[in-house]
Amino acid sequence: MFFARFPFVAQITRLFAPSERLVCYHCDERYRKSKNVDVVFQGVRRQVCCHGCAAVLQTIEQQGLVQDYLQTKQSNHVIAPAPTIYPTAVD
Ligand SMILES: [Zn+2]
Repeated sequence: MFFARFPFVAQITRLFAPSERLVCYHCDERYRKSKNVDVVFQGVRRQVCCHGCAAVLQTIEQQGLVQDYLQTKQSNHVIAPAPTIYPTAVD
């Protein structure tokens, strides 16, 4: 292969390649896959952006606040209904 003969080319290519992005389970922040932290939350492996978000999830579980957390998380993702538009008076 071409890269096998010139390993430095492969290194440079890798350096500038767009890194894969993930979305944090806790804060919804987009982050590089290389920064990923795995945490088990409710028996499921979740991907979070940092040890802070991992600590929050662990604390929520330890304190028995999972249901409140999930309700809040769910309601934050609900798109607000369109505002009611009242007809304006016409002269
Ligand atoms: Zn996060």
